[in-house]
Parts: sequence; C-alpha cells; structure tokens
Amino acid sequence: MVLNDLGKKINDALQKLNKDYNFDESQIKKALKEIQLALLQSDVNVNYVKQLSDNILQKFKMEEGQMINKKKVIQQSVVQELTKMLDSKKQPFQLKRGKPNVIMFVGLQGAGKTTTCAKYANYWKKKGWRTSLICADTFRAGSFNQLYQLAMKIRVPFYGNITETDPVAIAVEGVKILQKQNSEIIIIDTSGRHMQESELFDEMKQIYSAVCPNECIFVMDGSNGQACFNQAQAFKKAVEVGSVILTKLDGHSKGGGALSAVAATESPVIFLGTGEHIDDLESFKAESFVRRLLGLEDFKHMIEAVSEVVDIKSQKQSLKQIQKGQFTLRDLQQNYKSILKMGSLNQFMGMIPGIQNISQGQISEKEQIDRIKKSLIIMDSMSEDELDGITQITQKQLFRISKGSGQPIEKVNQLIEEQKIFTRTLKKVIPSIKDCDSKTKRNPKKA
Ligand code: GDP
Repeated sequence: MVLNDLGKKINDALQKLNKDYNFDESQIKKALKEIQLALLQSDVNVNYVKQLSDNILQKFKMEEGQMINKKKVIQQSVVQELTKMLDSKKQPFQLKRGKPNVIMFVGLQGAGKTTTCAKYANYWKKKGWRTSLICADTFRAGSFNQLYQLAMKIRVPFYGNITETDPVAIAVEGVKILQKQNSEIIIIDTSGRHMQESELFDEMKQIYSAVCPNECIFVMDGSNGQACFNQAQAFKKAVEVGSVILTKLDGHSKGGGALSAVAATESPVIFLGTGEHIDDLESFKAESFVRRLLGLEDFKHMIEAVSEVVDIKSQKQSLKQIQKGQFTLRDLQQNYKSILKMGSLNQFMGMIPGIQNISQGQISEKEQIDRIKKSLIIMDSMSEDELDGITQITQKQLFRISKGSGQPIEKVNQLIEEQKIFTRTLKKVIPSIKDCDSKTKRNPKKA
C-alpha cells in the first residue's frame, strides 16, 4: 500500500498511548506531535496538519470524562480527521452498465496518462465491462504505438489513425466506431504537453466539446506533492474535470501532500497509480484508504471486492457454517481461488488485518500470488476429510502434506494459521455479507 511509512509512524504514535491505559492531555499532545511530524514529512500542508491535531485535541478535552476506551476514541478521531482531509466530498461519476460511457483522459506530458488509460481499461475489463481505447494524441510521435501495444496486451479494442493530424476528428470517429461495437467504456487518450502551452488547453477544449464525454479524468503525477493543487485548478478551469487519478505514488514521500492538495480542489481522487505494471492501480476511497493506512480492518471495502467475484448464492452454505464458527480449509481453498480471479490482490490482502500482518514487509503482488498458489498446492495434498475439518491435522499428517506438496512444514502451519484468521475475520463480517446478499437480490445488475 502507498504511504506505508506515514501509516507506520502514525500507528507508532498511537501504540505508545496504548501502553498507558489512563493517559492524560500531555501524553496525547506528545502523540499528536509525532503524528504532525509524520504528516509534514509526507508533505501535507502545514495548515491542515495543525487543524487536524487541534480537532483531535479538542475532541479529547470535550469527551475525556466520558471516555471508556481513550485509545480507541483517539484512534477513531485520527481516522475521521484524516478521512476528512483526504475526502473531496464530491461524488465521482458512476459508470452505467450497457451504455457507452465516454471517458476522456487529460494531463501533462509524462504524468503517466497513456499508461493510466490502459490500466483503467484493464481494471474495468477484469470486472466484466467491455472497454476500449482511442489514441487522440497526435502530438507525441510514440503515443500511437504505446497505446496500441498496451491495448494488445490487455486485449481490448483500439482505435487510432496514424495519418490523421486532427485529434478532434480521431476522437469523434473513434467514439462512433467503438459505440457501434457496443463498447461500454470508451477511453480517449489526449495529448499531454507542458503547462505553459496554451495549445494544449485549446485542443483539450475542442475535443471535449466535440465528443461531450461523460467523464473527464485528470491524470496527475503525485510526486509533485502540494504543487498538485495549482495544476488541478488550472485543468479544472479549462475543462470540466470530474475526477483525478494520482500516479507514481509508489512509495513516494510526497503522496500525502498530493492527496490532500487534490482533495482541497474538490475533485474526487478515484484511483492511485502505484507502479509501472498494468495492474498497479488502486481504487481510492478516503475512509478505506485511511483505515488500511493505519492497519485497521476495512470490511466495507472487502465485502464490495469479494462480492464482485464471489457468487454469494453459492457461498450460502459456507456462510451458515462460518456463522457457527466453521470455516474450513476447503472454504479457504474456494476463497483463494476466487481471490486469484480478482483484479488487485494487494488491495484485497491489505483489507484483512491478520493477513496483512503475515505479509508484513510489504511483499509484492506477484509474491502474494505465488504464496496463494503454493497454499493451493498444499491444500491439494490434503485429504477430503482434512479439507472439511472432519479430521484434525496432527504432526504426522503435517509431515505427509509437506512431503506431498513439496512445501516446508512451516508453510503448511502458516496456512492453517491463515484459516484461523479468516474464520475470525469472516465471523465478524457475516452481517455485512448478508446485507450485501439482500442488496444483490434487490438489484442484481447493480455495478
Ligand atoms: P504520458 O506522457 O502522461 O502519457 O505518460 P506515460 O503514460 O507515457 O508515462 C510516463 C512514464 O511514467 C512511463 O515510464 C510510465 O511507465 C511511468 N508511470 C506511469 N504511471 C506510473 C506509476 O503509477 N508509477 C510509476 N512508478 N511509474 C509510472
């Protein structure tokens, strides 16, 4: 997850409070100083930092007498205040199923726009949407080939015209053709130039008026930190920017600044670019992001992600069992298979606190996939009764499973531990899963 360092520092400050159950104002002030420092080091605007800690302190003073668990209340107000800071409070555009949603991407050269167009197409394609790409960038010589290659890689329809010099004509023609092909998300990549070039803004406005996109997404290099505020404002003045994708946030220390600066422009951030790979796109929702940043469970987000790939109905039997505290290795096996179908594994694993602990040290998505695949191999070496929890796995069986799967004993043990973590986690989220189920029944087509 991005901004790990910030999350760790804030958590460390909160953990210190935990040591002394009955802490007083001076201790909370000390913790707030550490939180302030962590935020400033992440380039968050100094005024926000001050306001955030003032609000937390005020809450502490107002409620001190009635607090039963002070640490929890402080933690909650840290979550609330950080969410407030990173939330633009504006709802982003909702894609409509079965309709041609035309999405125009704008941004400065080098921000990662072309790469992000393909990541975005891939993200939605994996969720079952028919997506397509148009190259309306006639300015940069390599852009046609770059997008064409990416479209081939993710296998989505592509439209471009290497001989046409008018980007407006390309965009209009492309939308017409792809609409006829029943594309549901038509993504237009436009030229990115330098901020000072007025032609960039003129061209952008012309394409915007000609195709009337349903959504205009501004792609911005998140390593610019607080400077993102001015850029986002400039683009918002030129065209109706609906939402923002911040790129290059992979481990960048200025990420906190970029996020809070964009939120201040009231443009919702919808995704974060977290690497050069096609899957390195994290959907962004302020509260989920903050909870995961602080290593807290994010059940709401987790349920949404799971229900997108797991057939809730077929899981009914399992749900009943989990309610009774029975989540077997077979259930884990089924869930791991479903998880492998999901877009971004990192996001999902990060939502489960126990699993996150296991993968401490931030292992890469590829490593996580390998780990799940190995777990599936281990489970293949288990007997039916072991998978169903009918027979206990003793030392002798551990040895047999390890030998059969070619995996060390500690890996088999780790897997069994994971099953316990899943049981505990899922038991807590059962009410939300049931909610999800009834919603799906009421509105089965809802995206
Ligand atoms: P454009 O000029 O805005 O279309 O930018 P490109 O899509 O060509 O990207 C410019 C460079 O940034 C390329 O080397 C990309 O691989 C890289 N890039 C794009 N997004 C990310 C990201 O989220 N993280 C990192 N580390 N690099 C990125």
